[in-house]
This record gives sequence, C-alpha cells and structure tokens, in this order.
Amino acid sequence: MEASFARSILDDAPMAVVAVDGVGTIKSANRTAKAFFGRELAAGEPVNIVALIPCINVAELASDKGLERFNAKCRHGGDCLHRKAIRVNGAEAFVDVQAARFSVKGEAFLTLFIQDVTAVVAAEAAVQDLRLQITYNWRLNSLGEMASMVAHELNQPLSAILNFLDAAKTVVGRPEIDRTNALKFIRSAEAQAERASEVIRRLRALMSRDTGFHTDSSLSQVVGEIMPILNINARELDADITVNIPDEDHVVCDRVQVQQLVMNLVRNSLDAPETGERRRILISGEQTGTGYSVRVEDNGPGVPEAVAPKLFDPLTSTKLGGMGLGLSICRTIVEAHHGTITYGPSALGGAGFLFTLNDRSPDA
Ligand code: ADP
Repeated sequence: MEASFARSILDDAPMAVVAVDGVGTIKSANRTAKAFFGRELAAGEPVNIVALIPCINVAELASDKGLERFNAKCRHGGDCLHRKAIRVNGAEAFVDVQAARFSVKGEAFLTLFIQDVTAVVAAEAAVQDLRLQITYNWRLNSLGEMASMVAHELNQPLSAILNFLDAAKTVVGRPEIDRTNALKFIRSAEAQAERASEVIRRLRALMSRDTGFHTDSSLSQVVGEIMPILNINARELDADITVNIPDEDHVVCDRVQVQQLVMNLVRNSLDAPETGERRRILISGEQTGTGYSVRVEDNGPGVPEAVAPKLFDPLTSTKLGGMGLGLSICRTIVEAHHGTITYGPSALGGAGFLFTLNDRSPDA
C-alpha cells in the first residue's frame, strides 16, 4: 500500500521527476516526465539526461559544492534559471531544475525535479518586447517634446539678435557713426547667434548619436547635453539643478537612453508636490569597479509610502493624467545596461534614485 501510494504521488506530481545514475543515464522517470519529453525514458534504449537538458553536467553534481551551486542558481535566478530542454518533437522548452542525491547499495544516483517554465519564459519575453516598444515610442515622443523645448530656447537668442541688430542699425544710421557702440551691438548679436547654434548643435548631437549601440561616453557630456532643456523646466519652477559628475568620468552606454533616464528622474523631481522650500535637485555620479553609478535626488516630499513598493511597476502614478510608465522605462533602460535602479530617501530630504550602468552583467 505504502509503495503504491508513493508511486502514485510520484507519477501524478505536477513536475517531471527523473532518477539518473553517475553518468546521467535515466534509470527511472515519472509519468509527467514521459509526457513532458514525449517519450519513454527509462525503458528500452538508454536515454542520457544531457540529450534532454543539454546544460546539465552530472559530474559537477557529484560534489556537495557543485550541487549547492546548481540548486542555488535555480532558486535565485540568473542566466541558468531557465535551462533549455529538448522534447522529442524538437519543440524548444524551458525548465527549472532542482537536484538531490541518493544512493542505492553504495551506488550514487541523482533525482532531478524538472519544472516546465516554457510559458513563463514566453510571457517574460512578451513583456520585454512590450517594454522595448514602449521605450521606443517614448523616445520618439520625447524627441518631439525636446524639439519644441529647443524651439522655445532658440526664441530667446533670436529675438535678442534682432534687437541688437536694430540697435546697430540705428547707430550706423546716424550721421556721426559711433563705431565702438556699433561694434558692441554687432558682437552681442554674434554671441547670441553662437548661443543659438550651440542649442542646435546639442539637439543634433542628441539625435545623431542615437545609434542604439553602447559607446564609450563622457557622462558629464551626456548629461550636459540635456541640461539646457531641463534648465528651462527648472527655471519655470524656480528650481535649482546641480550636476556633480567629474569631466573625466567615462562609461559605456547608449547616450540617448541614459539621457532619457536622467531626464525622466529629474522631471519626476520637478513634478513632485511643493514643500514650500526652493526645489533643489542634485545629479551626482561616481565610477564603480564595473561601470558607473548615478544618483538623482531632490529635497521634495519623497515618494508617497503607498506608492514605494510598486514604484517601478508600469501604471503606478499619483499624478493627475500620469501614465506611470516613466520609472518602468527607466528600469528597462538600466537593465539594458546590466545595472539596477533603486529608490531610497535622499540626504537632501526628498526622493533619491540610484542607478548603475555596468559594462557587462555581474553574472557574466
Ligand atoms: P508618472 O511620472 O507618469 O507618474 P513614473 O513611473 O515616472 O510615472 O512615477 C511614478 C510615481 O512615482 C509618480 O506618480 C510619483 O508618485 C512617484 N515619484 C517618482 N519620482 C518621485 C520624486 N522624485 N518625488 C516624489 N514622488 C516621485
């Protein structure tokens, strides 16, 4: 009775269970395993587990350390969480595998508990696709938005140029030409024209470097290019933005994505409700062993407690008409740079966002 009961539990378990010997030959398999792989596993021709799950290294699982490492990877995620499995019809599947050792009459065997996670992997891939799509659309929108801000920024020097030229015309039109004064107005017009072309140069840099590739960039330059735009927003709110990133600091990144990231965090700081104090925002960065870390913080009221746990989830917003996508997109961008983004209170008294940009994944 006990043995049949155990057998029936094993056979009907929702996960595939197989027992393999020291070289990986399958010696026993439950019904779920046979159904999942679509073939007999422990009867007839011997089947090696590597033929079903190629990344399993049975020899490695013979040691306690190897087994521990294998199971830890399964539980904690990382690259190997979803191991590729091959079913008899050739269909690609993904599995999460846990291993345990047992012995019979001195011979060592392994039990492998195999969970089908194919649907989970497909759903995750679909979510990732959607995020990339949103990032792309958001990028287009923000470029449009930037263009209108730059137009706004250009308006000032252009009006100033007209005024200076007008003044120069008046001076030159007089019978006694005051050459010093005329030259002063022309030089002032020239300086304004340079300012205008600087604005255009920055916008072009912003767009033309949108290669989608990660390049070695000066972070102070990357952030510097968006400052004219952010400063317009800040001026309107009488806020103050300080950038504290050493000129010599370099990082491998997608410039436009990082600009979107910083822009979004700063805009959130500017959007936060008033506290009565003059709004201060600090962007600071420092080189780390594997890349770079940037902190964007403010002296606002901080993130509302109820929002904090799901801050980076899409559609989380406390703003009237807010889409709640900004921070979720920030996270996607940071993940594309093998980094992390976290929220915590700032020493300035408000919200603090810390993100890292790494040259490669820490697991790689
Ligand atoms: P949205 O800006 O559309 O609301 P986000 O994902 O960018 O979407 O932000 C989500 C929410 O996080 C905001 O609605 C706000 O409640 C909170 N938040 C983000 N940054 C800050 C900040 N610097 N200070 C206070 N609250 C913030």
